[in-house]
Amino acid sequence: MKKRALLSVSDKNGLLPFAQELESLGYEILSTGGTMKHLKENGVAVTAVDEVTGFPEIMEGRVKTLNPMIHGGLLAKQDDPVHKAQMEEHGIQPIDIVCVNLYPFKETISKRDVSEEEAIENIDIGGPAMLRASAKNYNYVTVIVDATDYGYVLGELKTEGQTSIETRRKLAAKVFRHTAAYDAFVSGYLTDLAGEEFPEQLTFTYELKQPLRYGENPHQHAAFYSRPLSSDFSIAYAEQLHGKELSYNNIQDANAAIQIVKEFEKPAAVAVKHMNPCGVGIGETLKEAFDKVHEADPVSIFGGIIALNREVDEATAEKLSEIFLEIIIAPAFTEQAMELLTKKKNIRLLTIPFDQHKKDKWNVVSVEGGLLIQEPDTYGYKDADIRVVTERQPTEQEWEALKLGWAVVKHVKSNAIAVTDSQMTLGVGAGQMNRVGAARIALSQAGERAKGAALSSDAFFPMDDTVEAAHQAGITAIIQPGGSVKDEASIKKANEYGIAMVFTGVRHFKH
Ligand code: 5GP
Repeated sequence: MKKRALLSVSDKNGLLPFAQELESLGYEILSTGGTMKHLKENGVAVTAVDEVTGFPEIMEGRVKTLNPMIHGGLLAKQDDPVHKAQMEEHGIQPIDIVCVNLYPFKETISKRDVSEEEAIENIDIGGPAMLRASAKNYNYVTVIVDATDYGYVLGELKTEGQTSIETRRKLAAKVFRHTAAYDAFVSGYLTDLAGEEFPEQLTFTYELKQPLRYGENPHQHAAFYSRPLSSDFSIAYAEQLHGKELSYNNIQDANAAIQIVKEFEKPAAVAVKHMNPCGVGIGETLKEAFDKVHEADPVSIFGGIIALNREVDEATAEKLSEIFLEIIIAPAFTEQAMELLTKKKNIRLLTIPFDQHKKDKWNVVSVEGGLLIQEPDTYGYKDADIRVVTERQPTEQEWEALKLGWAVVKHVKSNAIAVTDSQMTLGVGAGQMNRVGAARIALSQAGERAKGAALSSDAFFPMDDTVEAAHQAGITAIIQPGGSVKDEASIKKANEYGIAMVFTGVRHFKH
């Protein structure tokens, strides 16, 4: 009896040569409407699935292959006496190769303003049923869901006359990953539509973006996966134009830098080390902004990750090329900037689409044995939240410095303190176990520059010691959430020293 291959695909890429080869290897080709038409037009002899089932495709294609004549052929243990007898009895013939790819559900829902009806029509039913049946029966059936596998399957058929069990098992595993991911898109879409916030199961799916040489340390295996349909203004959508491949730590740092630079409308630059900003600057031009970043902390910027929110021009590139940097991320680079920067072999140049703003609904972090999800902290500076709690109001210059500091400190690991003027960070204290400790680090780094500068704190002062330290260093304005039982002590001290202090009422812990 002739071996049989069932081909039913939405994406017809690469199918024709595959079908032609199968035909020449002596396979009978079974196919559904659109696929059959495509093959027949190109001279491949095809048996219609309707002929096998004795039943036409009905309900606009909703029911094509859902039939025991097909599914019996897919699920039969071909050498089992009972199965064989039942196949005989019902006139079912085995199917040996199945090649199916599904209605493009992900592509459909990623279109803007897709209607519910269109989305639903693109939920493939018969395709996953065939895929899953064939994959379950991988002892007998070779199942292909990905066009890139046509080639090596054909290769095995030609050289060995059949596929190996190892190949079939691998293909089956791929099928179940594929159908699971497919259902994750469907369930995600419907869960959103139904407005369920925390369903009893989360069905995210991630796609391999790139394997990584190693993780945080060389002895750790690692890879980078991106979540489809997620935030496009992100490292997951970055395009690398030049340089060595990204490392695990690079990706984390780049992500942090992008989050900070997103805060600014004016030309802005950010330098990140170990996921904390070591310099943030704004200016009238990008070069001016980057100069500030360099000046902010000329030591820490060495080996830093830079994100900029404008096209990098020649003048900025010149400055950038003077320092050893790991990565530069920007919306674009001019030709001259590329010419300059690509002279450095190792520097990684990345572009990300600043003009697209699909936002992630959830921020996900993993803990051992689980994960935590929360809304991203996109809460910004709002005039309505702000309360000046001291006798003295901030000056215009101080307001600018406070706003800059408040935008930055939110992205610094807690306990976090930032010392800023109206254009740049002067000192950053990150990830300390007590607040005054973070303040001391930020103030000592600012040094003389702290005189007349602003201090921002991501959470309230539990004591008045931070105000004391700020005053000693010459700080004249402070922004913090307020809300401590000891607020009065801090306010009193600020008044004593003539410091203008502002409460935001909003906390920005970042762990
Ligand atoms: P064609 O273009 O050949 O008419 O259709 C191919 C597509 O139909 C494939 O994506 C396949 O997954 C899907 N398909 C095959 N059988 C069925 C079925 O019985 N019901 C549904 N809804 N889709 C099917």
